[in-house]
Order: sequence, then structure tokens, then C-alpha cells
Amino acid sequence: MSTKTVFGAARRGLTKRAGDLYHQIAKRSLMSAATHPELLRDALGRPLGQLRVSVTDRCNLRCRYCMPEEEYHWLRRSDLLTYEEIAQLADIFADAGVSKVRLTGGEPLLRHDVHRLVRLLAANGRLREIALTTNGVLLAQSAQLLREAGLTRVTVSLDTLRPERFLALTRQNLHDRVLEGIRAAGAAGFERLKIDTVVIGGLNDDEILEILEFGRSIGGEVRFIEYMDVGGATLWTPDQVIPRDEILARIERRHGAVEPLPPDGTAPAERFRLRDGTCFGIIASVTSPFCRTCDRSRLTADGMWYLCLYALAGTDLRGPLRRGASREEIAKLLAEVWTARSDRGAEQRREARTRGPLVTIENLRRDPHLEMHTRGG
Ligand code: SF4
Repeated sequence: MSTKTVFGAARRGLTKRAGDLYHQIAKRSLMSAATHPELLRDALGRPLGQLRVSVTDRCNLRCRYCMPEEEYHWLRRSDLLTYEEIAQLADIFADAGVSKVRLTGGEPLLRHDVHRLVRLLAANGRLREIALTTNGVLLAQSAQLLREAGLTRVTVSLDTLRPERFLALTRQNLHDRVLEGIRAAGAAGFERLKIDTVVIGGLNDDEILEILEFGRSIGGEVRFIEYMDVGGATLWTPDQVIPRDEILARIERRHGAVEPLPPDGTAPAERFRLRDGTCFGIIASVTSPFCRTCDRSRLTADGMWYLCLYALAGTDLRGPLRRGASREEIAKLLAEVWTARSDRGAEQRREARTRGPLVTIENLRRDPHLEMHTRGG
């Protein structure tokens, strides 16, 4: 909803002069919010702190909880932002308060020379964290380059330790490549490697303890993720969700009481520590959503900006950028859109009486931006 509409309604009750004044104040506050990030808060008081950038919608795996369908409509290559355009936008987002950028996909390492983008972002100097979420298949050959380019953190998605189950879950026989990628990330010097595991009832929930142990053995930190009903998860049903409490109970049955750890800034994971010092996290978007502190937004590979993983509409930033809009104009657009944000998708899904897949297959085909693999999870 544009600023004009909101204020138009207010103006009806006020004299023309008052209306104009109102407009000037709003414009000034938007401009100062755009140049004073500490002022830029959404309608729920949340800052614009992190940007997840999908560099491609393509992927070399077909994970059942993200891309279970046979057929997909892809973004046009000519529409994809160049690395220079992504860096330009990231710089304007940094003006607005963003200090962390996470590169995602699809599978980000499918796009050529991602280290070149990392170098551009690292040169920005105001982004204190440049992270990457990958499925690990192509990580072995690029871990060192990414590290040298300035990448600060790596998260690898790994949902099973069993190659035959990996094949069933992703339709690709590439489990060994993922393990090789994890080793290469360690060798390249990435500390506290994160392992993301989507837990699906009846599929891999019997591996929770093994994967926790695997994380400990590589000096990494596992985050167990509740299976989410986001766009693209067309096979999602509530009974496949293993709730946070159940994951915790299984771990405590084996390891005894776990110690809750203080939150890591606005990171989505709730963190815990075992008696032997092993740390792990749970991302409980389904049963215990964390929208109230969510400072994340997402940029698709073709420049659509989404304020929530569940959002059904976004804002086009590629258009203004390629039409030569000034830095100030784009900064003002970010401020207008963000200050009107009231998204809390996971909370609203939890409040819904009936709950099934978020988007129908027909609508996913009509608009590939509704797919999780297009907005980078
Ligand atoms: S559902 Fe939306 S608002 Fe809630 S945490 Fe996720 S992205 Fe943020």
C-alpha cells in the first residue's frame, strides 16, 4: 500500500493546508529515516537489519520440502540482477541499516563466480557479516575462494547422513559431495559452520541424534528446522511437522537436561547447550514463530523485494534501478515500504483454523516468485 493512499485517507478530514503540512512532515520523516537507519522501523518497531539475497532460483537438488514438483517455471536470465546491481542495492540497504547479507538461492553456487559478488559486498565495509547458505554440492571447489573474497559464515543444508535417503529426499545421488563440501569449508577456515536440517516426520526425524553427533564431530552447530508450509512446499501437512518440544524431548532423553542459551541477536534459532558443551539450535517457525523480532527481508535474483517468507506480493527494485533512479529515490522507496511493513506470516499461519500448503501449484506456476527456492528460504 503506497504512502500516498494512507495519507490521502488522513487528508480527507483535514483542510488542504493541514494536509500539505502532513505530507511534508511524512516526506521529511521518511527521508530522515532513509538516511538515519536507527529511525527506520516497520509498523511493529522492527529495524531493517538483514537482507537475504537469492542470486539464482535454480538448484541442482530437488528437496522434497522445497521443490517436490516435476516442473518449474524459472526466472528469465536477462531479468537477473548483475553482481554489480546487487552490490549497488546492498549499499543502499546498508544506508537503511542492513549490516548482514546472506546469499542464498535456489543453490547460490550454481551461479558463476559467486566469490566475485562476495568481494564486491566485502568492499562495502559497512556489512559486518556476509554469509552463504548452500546445499554443499559445489562447496568443495569454491570454499577457499569464497573465504579469500571475504565470506564470513557458511551454512550447509544437510537433512540426512544416509546416502540412500539423500537420494530419496533430493532425487540426486550427491551425498558424498555435500560431505566433501563440509570438510572443505572447515579446511578453508570457516568456524562454527552451521548445519541446517529440516526435520520431517516419518522421513528423517529418526536421525536427530545422529545429525547432532555429526555436527559435534565436525565442530559445527546444527539447527533443526520445523518443516514449514511456505510457498512451494506443496506436500506439506501438519502431521509431518516434528514440533520444537518433541525435538528437544528426544535430545534430552539421550543427553539429559539441555541449557538454553541467550538469543544470538535476532537470529531465528533458539539455541541450547548439552552438558558436553555441544551447542545446537531449533528454528520453530511453525509451533513457536519469532516474527516479533524479525528484521529480515528477501531480495530475489531478479530484484523483487519481499518483506516476509510468507508474503504473497513484493516490491520491484530492478525496475527503478535500471531506469536510473537515484540513490535517494531508491532509499525513499525502501523507507516507504519498510515503515508500512506489518508482516508476521508464520504467526498468522499458526492462527489459521485450517492449514495446508500456502500456495496452489497453479499459482506457483503463474508466479515463480511465490516459490521458496526463488526467495531463498
Ligand atoms: S514469517 Fe515472515 S515475519 Fe515471521 S519470521 Fe518469517 S519472514 Fe519474519
